[in-house]
Amino acid sequence: MPSLTSSANHSWRVNHAILGVLFCGACMGEQPIDIDIVILGGGIAGLWSLNQLRNQGYSAVLLESEALGSQQTIASQGMIHGGLKYALSGAWGGGSDAISGMPDAWRECLRGSGKVDLRGARILSEDFYMWSDGDLQSRLGSFFASKLLRGRIEKLQRSHFPAPLRNSGFSGQVYRLLDMVMDMPSVIETLADRQRDAIFSVDWSQSSLLQVGGNARVQLPGCELRPQRLLLTAGIGNETLIRQLGGQSPQMQRRPLQQIIVKHDYPEPFYAHCIGSNPSPRLTISSHKTLNGDPVWYLGGDLATEHTAYSPEKLIALAQLELRQLLPWIDFGASEWSTITLDRAEPKQSALLRPDRAFVGKVDSVDNAFACWPTKLSLSPDLANEIDRSLAKDNITPRFQPDMTVLQHLPRPGIAPTCWDTCFQ
Ligand SMILES: Cc1cc2nc3c(=O)[nH]c(=O)nc-3n(C[C@H](O)[C@H](O)[C@H](O)COP(=O)(O)OP(=O)(O)OC[C@H]3O[C@@H](n4cnc5c(N)ncnc54)[C@H](O)[C@@H]3O)c2cc1C
Repeated sequence: MPSLTSSANHSWRVNHAILGVLFCGACMGEQPIDIDIVILGGGIAGLWSLNQLRNQGYSAVLLESEALGSQQTIASQGMIHGGLKYALSGAWGGGSDAISGMPDAWRECLRGSGKVDLRGARILSEDFYMWSDGDLQSRLGSFFASKLLRGRIEKLQRSHFPAPLRNSGFSGQVYRLLDMVMDMPSVIETLADRQRDAIFSVDWSQSSLLQVGGNARVQLPGCELRPQRLLLTAGIGNETLIRQLGGQSPQMQRRPLQQIIVKHDYPEPFYAHCIGSNPSPRLTISSHKTLNGDPVWYLGGDLATEHTAYSPEKLIALAQLELRQLLPWIDFGASEWSTITLDRAEPKQSALLRPDRAFVGKVDSVDNAFACWPTKLSLSPDLANEIDRSLAKDNITPRFQPDMTVLQHLPRPGIAPTCWDTCFQ
């Protein structure tokens, strides 16, 4: 973890191993590099922003302490949604908020005509389904009647049901949402490949954050990065980075999850929310393949958010019961089960409500550092646009074109493995 000390006009670092010894970065021969942007954290937020900022002519580097996509991004279900599922709870205003435009923004990038070039990233599914085992229409009549939903959701005839629901034993209703599902390893790889020369590993035991004249800098072996703007896109790691910068805000909230992974030999993929009696999905299923080609269903929704304190064994037993109740005609054969626990990181909201747009907020202790949380994968384009707006507000334009040769000796981070490739070993 980085350490930080500040001084009014000079860059000092405390060497904790030799108490009482202070030394000046510049005196130690670290080469100063004036640069437009430094980004800390290489999940979707950092990678998307790096691409958009460099495409606009900013000089920028991204520093990652583990592997690209670690933590939330690689563990996400990959759904790029326009907020429709929030309409179930009445907490969605339709076309006016940021999230409703996100699937189109992603599609533009996938075609190569957006602000970020995502050509090469793989779409797992162009559709997402919503089903209930009861009468969804009578319970949610006003929801489906809403003009806002016209063209965004479609009730399906039985002949168009996705394969896992095409069984005579199924008597519920099925809707198709115009949301898509991305293969996250390919998204991370595509965004990283376009910017390889600007992405480096950071080992905080040999690097540190400095505060000089009210501005944050990053000291790396051999050089000191002096950015116009420091962007914290480290997900959960932002909390520590803000503290290391001496800041109290923005504050972060965590929403814990325990996701379930089942590796099986049922061949049909399925991307769907099952709607129960709550406004949030009872179960969300996405389908993936291990590197060996084995099918995996990844289970989220209320099942993952409401039982985080369960032991893995107890949650797996509950998940097995859910699938037996909801899809009794599917035989998963010789399946293997596992769970992963992790937190979603978001800006603090009252009563742990979900924020509905990306967040970019100034760290209170320094002038040039901003904490960023997309809050959803889907909102990555919104996050990068918020960053653009915050730069424009402070009149920060592309200014420096530094020689980055001195950085080239730093190691490069790899791409994080998926949990379905690590949890069954
Ligand atoms: C189980 C799950 C499923 C989800 N499914 C969806 C979905 O289907 N659709 C959707 O829209 N959203 C979804 N989300 C939300 C979405 O995944 C997150 O909002 C998004 O991935 C956050 O991205 P991020 O880049 O901010 O953070 P992260 O992905 O957590 O990335 C942070 C990065 O910063 C690095 N880092 C941490 N500390 C430091 C440091 N000190 N220095 C340098 N680097 C550091 C980490 O190693 C990591 O690479 C899901 C979230 C979870 C947990």
